[in-house]
This record gives sequence, structure tokens and C-alpha cells, in this order.
Amino acid sequence: MLAATARSAAVVPILLALVSAAALAVFFVLVGHVLDAIVFRDALTGPVVTGLILLPLVAVACTLLSSRFSARATSATERRLRGLVLGHVFGLGVMRRPAAASGRLVSAATTDVEKASAYRAGFVGPIAGTMAGPVLVIVVIGLAVDVVSALWLAIAIPVIPLVVGGFQRAFRTVSGSYRRSTAMLSGAFLEAVQGLSTLVLHRAEGRTGRDLAARGEDNRRQVMRLLAVNQLLILVVDAAFSLGTLALAATLAVVRLLDGTLTPGTAVALVLLSTLLTGPADIVGQFFYIGATGRAAERGLSGVLAERPSLPAGSAVRVDRPSVGGLPIELDRVTAGYGDGAPALRDLSLSISAGEHVALVGPSGVGKSTVAALLSRHLLPESGAVRVGPLDTRDASGESVRSLIAVVDQQTTLFTGSIADNLRVAKSDATDAELVAAVDAAGLGADVARMPLGLDTPVGERGLSLSGGQAQRVAIARALLRDTPIVILDEPTSQVDLASEAAIIEALRTLSRDRTVITIAHRASAIRDVDRVIELGASS
Ligand code: ADP
Ligand code: MG
Repeated sequence: MLAATARSAAVVPILLALVSAAALAVFFVLVGHVLDAIVFRDALTGPVVTGLILLPLVAVACTLLSSRFSARATSATERRLRGLVLGHVFGLGVMRRPAAASGRLVSAATTDVEKASAYRAGFVGPIAGTMAGPVLVIVVIGLAVDVVSALWLAIAIPVIPLVVGGFQRAFRTVSGSYRRSTAMLSGAFLEAVQGLSTLVLHRAEGRTGRDLAARGEDNRRQVMRLLAVNQLLILVVDAAFSLGTLALAATLAVVRLLDGTLTPGTAVALVLLSTLLTGPADIVGQFFYIGATGRAAERGLSGVLAERPSLPAGSAVRVDRPSVGGLPIELDRVTAGYGDGAPALRDLSLSISAGEHVALVGPSGVGKSTVAALLSRHLLPESGAVRVGPLDTRDASGESVRSLIAVVDQQTTLFTGSIADNLRVAKSDATDAELVAAVDAAGLGADVARMPLGLDTPVGERGLSLSGGQAQRVAIARALLRDTPIVILDEPTSQVDLASEAAIIEALRTLSRDRTVITIAHRASAIRDVDRVIELGASS
């Protein structure tokens, strides 16, 4: 999957590098001709002059094209890889992840994607091109200058990959640990940002700040180690290889000039041509950081992409929803948990008929939200069956099941964007009239009317911040837009003030009409207007 990009992105830079190398090689051969022409007092021909002018331009054009191509290919690859990672993460399921795992995903979708793309699209091709160039130069030397010199210089070429290969193995552990430390750093930052108010309340922000600083320092040290090895490589490869090649070429030029094989012009051309052989040394040193971190990032991405979804896909089923009255729900001797220790629910049976309004109450941790997770197929039972309308959650896909259910959660997530954008999360093609109707029915009409831009008022991270009660009514409006036969309300008033509570209860009454409704609460007293109260924990 990751490798698919490499081929197309590599071919063009290789071709461009070859053309550029050929142009420069011929140019140097022509320079030799000019010298000989001067020494032997010959006239210069038209094609030689034209070549001297045009060939450098061709080489420069190829270099420019190649870097433009790499930049484009890199950003296209970045977009594609990020789409791949996000799509994969969305497919993994929504059950709770530890912050460390979330941090890993964040750094996979950002840093890893960036580095892997820079490596895949901006590195592999140019490197291969730069490696291939010298082969062509050797051929030109053999044809236009001297076969013996060409053979001697050909020995120098394989030295580079051997040296680099050795360094790479030494490098692997360093860049791997650098990547892990970066992922841990993002995890820690994510956790700190998410828990900021808790940290401040407990006056722990200083301690957490110091902890983060220490991790940052650790990360910095890893980068410095990586760069130190990088510097060393540039020094060793560049100096040794460039000087060695140049010395070899100069020696060959002198020896072959003295024994009469070469003319002064071709001898100079030979030395000039040898500078084209050191290209790989330059670029390998220069790009080494990208290569090492890129490969480490790719290993990280492969790890994330290898994670399997926690639930089997299930098959898509279309259910014709009833025009009125909701759908029945049944839990049949359900045992379910999160795979770590004792099950959260044990042998629970529940039967709720179409259109019934039921309250599910019980102390915190008894498994009420687990029932909601089972019904919305974020979780499958270990034994027993969960039936939502005509669907058994074991067989039907999550999307099919969730097309029947809307959940109003304890906490509402508002995304950066307008109120309208936040409502269209629930129904992307909703018309403005539908939005207004939903907002009115959710008891949010007056609030929106008071906002500066109405439905277009920005909210979320960079906009107006809504009160808990308003956010909750946005969630209710979303559920109204979804217009599903079943609604689950998970402690819908637990986070809001009393003034909002009345408005929310009114909005919930509207939402509940003609639907099957499960209201989750930890106290029976918070529940009104229900047909039946089911107590969890007492029996199960
Ligand atoms: P309630 O909503 O009644 O407070 P929950 O259904 O949220 O209870 O939780 C029931 C039990 O399952 C608790 O012990 C809780 O720690 C555990 N639990 C809930 N969600 C998860 C999860 N995503 N991963 C692991 N354990 C969980
Ligand atoms: Mg809960």
C-alpha cells in the first residue's frame, strides 16, 4: 500500500537526472575539444559551439523540473497517505483508547505522513537518479575519453552504496527510538491539552509542564543524535569519496597524458567528468536525515495500518423505517465487556417495544453506557443477542444499525465551523429550512436569533463558545435531523445548569415523540415522562 507511490514518483526524477547527467558529461567532453582546438589551433565547429551553449541550459532545466516534480509528488503523496491513515482509523471503531494510543495516531497522521511522503516522493526517485547518473557518465568517459580510465573510475562507484548501507544499519536503532519518543511526546501533549482544566484545578500544571519539558528535552537529544550521525556521514562520505575520485581521475589524466593516450583537452575533460561521479556522495549526505526518519516513519505507519478493526464489518441492510412509532429493541441474555477482566454486563435481558419510553437507571459504572454502545454497535456481545428493530447487531453492519439510532451523549463535541456546519454533521444535505426547523424544535431558536450571524455564527475552537445547555440542544437538534426511529439519551442533563435543564427537557419531549426512547440516568429522580424504569445493577 505504501509502496504504490514509489514507482511513478521515482521514474520521472530518474529520467531527468539521467538527461541532466548526460548533458553535463557531453558538455565537459566539448570543453575538452575546445581546449584541444586551442592547443592544436583548429577551428571550432558550429555544433560544438551550439552544444556548449545549450547543454548547460538543458542540465539546469532538468534540475529545476526535478525539484518541482518532487515537491508536487510529495504533497500529493502526503494527501493520499493522510487519507489512508484517517480512513483506516475511522474504520477501527470508537471504543475508548488510552491517550498514548491517540498520541500515536496523531503523530502517525501528521509527522509520520509528512516524513514518509518526503521520503517516498522526494527522496527515493532523486536518489536513484543521482545514483544512475554516474553510470551514464562512465559510459561517456569510455566512449569519448578513454576506456581504461573509465574502467578504473567504475571501481569507485559501488563504494558509495556500500558505505551508506553500513551507516544505515547503525542508524536504524537511533531513528527508531527517535520516532517512538516523538509519538510519546504527542501523546503526553494531547493528554495535557485534553485535561487542561483538571490539571489547573489540581494545581498540577507546573508538574505536568516540567514533565513535558523533560520529554521535549529527551526528544531534542534524539534529534541531535540523529543529526550528529548525519553530519559524520556527510563528512566521511563527501570528503573521502570526492577527494578520492578526484585524485584518481587526476592521476589517470596525468599518466595517460604522459603515455600519449590522451590529448591535453581530453585529460582536462576526464578530470571535469570525474566531478559528476561524486554527485551521489553529495546527495546521499544531504538527504540522509530524510531517508532515515522517512523509513522509520514508514515503519510506524505500517504499524498503524496493520491494526485491525475491533469489530467484524457485518453486512449492509436497508431497513424501511416505520412512519410513526419507533422500532422495538431487545437484549437477550447479553454478556458483554471490553476484553479486560470481568464483563461490564452479565446475562442481561431487556425488551423494549416500539414507541416505548424507558429509563435505564443505576449507579455509575454499572454498565448503562455499555448498553448504549451495544445498541449502536460500537460493541458486540460476548454471548447472547442484541436486536435493534429487525437487525441483529452481530450480522448487520454498524452503519445499518446506526441508521436507526441517534444518541445524545453526556458531552457534545462542537467542531470548528458555523452552527449550521455543526448541525450538518448529522445530515450533510439538510436544507436551511430543515436546519431552522430542527433548531426551533430543539429549543435553540431564540438563542440562535440572538447570535450575531444566526446559523452562520462560528462556534468551536475559534468561535463563540456555547454554554453546556446550548451545546446539548445542538446535540438534540442533530438527533432531530437524523430523524431515527430510536433515540438514546445518555445522561442528557447531567452537565447542564438548572436554567438550561427546563429548556432541554422540553426539547427532549419534542425529540421523543413517536420514537422509541431510552433515557440513561444514574438517579431515577432525574427521569420524567417515561413509561417504565429499568433498574440496572440490582439484579444483574
Ligand atoms: P455507566 O454508564 O453505567 O456508568 P459504563 O457502561 O460506562 O457504566 O461502564 C461499565 C464498566 O465498563 C465500567 O467498569 C467501566 O470502567 C467499563 N468500561 C466502560 N467503557 C469501557 C471501555 N471503552 N473500555 C474498557 N472498559 C470500559
Ligand atoms: Mg455512562
